[in-house]
Amino acid sequence: MYFDIGWEINKKLKTMQTGKINVQTENIFPIIKKFLYSDHEIFLRELIANAVDATTKLKTLSALGKVEDELGDLTIEVILDKENKTLTVKDRGIGMTAEEIEKYINQIAFSGAEEFVEKFKNKTEVEQGGLIGHFGLGFYSSFMVSDKVEIKTKTYKNDEGSNAVSWECDGSPEYTINEIEKSERGTEIILFINEESNEFLEEHRILELLNKYCKFLPVPIRFGNEKSWEKSETEVDDKGEPKEIEIEKPRIINNSNPLWKQRPADLKDEDYKSFYRELYPMSFEDPLFNIHLNVDYPFNLTGILFFPKVKKNFEMQRDKIQLYCNQVFVTDSVEGIVPDFLTLLHGVIDSPDIPLNVSRSYLQSDSNVKKISGHIMKKVADKLEDIFKNNREEFEKKWDDIKVFIEYGIISETKFFDRAEKFCLLKNTEGKYFTFEEYKSHIKETQTDKDGNLVFIYTSNPEDQHSYVQNACERGYDVLVLDGPIDNHFVNTLEQKFEKSHFVRVDAEVADKLIKKSDALPSRLSEEQTKNLTEVFEQQLNKAIYHISVENLGENDLPVTVTQPEFMRRMKDMSAMGGGGQFAFMGNMPDSYNLVLNSNHKLMGQLLETEDAEEKVKMIKQLIDLALLSQNLLKGEALTGFIKRSVDIIK
Ligand code: ADP
Repeated sequence: MYFDIGWEINKKLKTMQTGKINVQTENIFPIIKKFLYSDHEIFLRELIANAVDATTKLKTLSALGKVEDELGDLTIEVILDKENKTLTVKDRGIGMTAEEIEKYINQIAFSGAEEFVEKFKNKTEVEQGGLIGHFGLGFYSSFMVSDKVEIKTKTYKNDEGSNAVSWECDGSPEYTINEIEKSERGTEIILFINEESNEFLEEHRILELLNKYCKFLPVPIRFGNEKSWEKSETEVDDKGEPKEIEIEKPRIINNSNPLWKQRPADLKDEDYKSFYRELYPMSFEDPLFNIHLNVDYPFNLTGILFFPKVKKNFEMQRDKIQLYCNQVFVTDSVEGIVPDFLTLLHGVIDSPDIPLNVSRSYLQSDSNVKKISGHIMKKVADKLEDIFKNNREEFEKKWDDIKVFIEYGIISETKFFDRAEKFCLLKNTEGKYFTFEEYKSHIKETQTDKDGNLVFIYTSNPEDQHSYVQNACERGYDVLVLDGPIDNHFVNTLEQKFEKSHFVRVDAEVADKLIKKSDALPSRLSEEQTKNLTEVFEQQLNKAIYHISVENLGENDLPVTVTQPEFMRRMKDMSAMGGGGQFAFMGNMPDSYNLVLNSNHKLMGQLLETEDAEEKVKMIKQLIDLALLSQNLLKGEALTGFIKRSVDIIK
């Protein structure tokens, strides 16, 4: 803290003075210039953050009655002078005395930079990447882009030794300090931009950086002027209306009171929506809802998270949360800070308690960061539970859009499951929504198997599996729609979490599990006929792939259906999704299917009575193909054959 030092003024600066920065190991400037090549642009953020600090400190001192002069306009200015190749950051903050320059710039800031360079010079660019290098270099980062840096500063203090001074350094360890004339309080940092860095002499580039890093800093920041149209107060146009005139006014690039710093009680839904547009100008859709974070203890954190409307390709929407440290933008990669499933959210997190100049692996093991992560998860669960309890209708309306977050959370975080099991919904093919408990009692009577397990029947594609869904519904079963991108994993997780329950896809061997209820139906065929039927079908099929069974289903059920064992299909799906080593071998297993013949269908009797062998084979093939077709399994040559045969039959 630089306002309460007991620095003794033992020298009055009247004449020019030169000095040498104490370089112990080697000259750090070439290193600063060279090795941080990927992160050059951060110099501007560092300088402006210092200017903001100096301004905030002045305000604090003033509030304590320690500043004699009027504060005046505290706007920080960024000034580009293309002709002279300079970029200046000018504040009206506390300024520095000669002694303070000596202490803070020549000693403390320098040794800070030196330490920083020491730490990271041997790292590869990749290791430097991520959060490393985002903070820590401070003032000296300006040498990454400058041939020479000049400081002109005047302290807020009015006592002896508080004359304005300049400090100049050309990137060698020598510097000069000079007493100067400067009437305004505050500090100007003037960068003489070097040849390689002339991009920073382009207005659009500076504007881009200011928008990226400084958009929400707490002190107004001005960069040149902007033009706008306003109604004149004196001039009128032909119609006698006030004339539209073009005016130039200071361009303030930041919103110094961003929404997340305001009190939630003072804000309306519309405020959050317009803040969302401010954060993501390219987004056309409003967020579904928001969560305002505000924590003082045991760590400090503010922020707003939004649930965006999820698109099909939700990976694209990842990494949209912006991380700030006291309103200074740090990064938009919050991996490690929020639980993985919440990286799908959008918004802002601002915390001075997140260590930033450390590696990611360190970040993930940091206890503060863990607490922060846990807290954010809790807040998200609170909000969801709140909407669910107080406005279930609204919650159901949004469900299809938010379900991927919640399912992802349930799959990946046990703690989140414990909260979400109260409000996670399941939707059936009729479009009705149930909580887990509600659904369990809904199917208890009809879908319990002989071992007392609850059987959840679901479709992963209501279109493709239409005939199966219809079939199941006609039997009085309830079918869930689980057609989301991660529902495969979700089903596995629920099966592990729920006791005495299993999930079967509607086109799997549901028949084995429940349709057995129809065992009560007497078979129309004798044992002999059943055997015969199995044989004739077997002759037309590859026995390694198809397993044939005869069941006594209803007259109106399909004559032949194909099902795939649930376990087998799920394992194959997992291996296709790259679901980890343990399932990888499943990808190489041959497919296997059950072919269920309905002994009670009229056609089966007809088939057995058909004398003409050729006719019989044709019928069997047609029945098998129809069953395969309804499962989307008839492809290529087999499909062509089926079409030809069908045309023949019509003829
Ligand atoms: P840090 O900001 O992390 O302390 P810097 O190298 O950026 O490190 O700055 C070192 C010190 O120089 C600051 O702590 C502050 O005391 C002083 N300083 C830098 N910029 C300004 C400024 N614009 N106004 C007043 N003091 C400043």
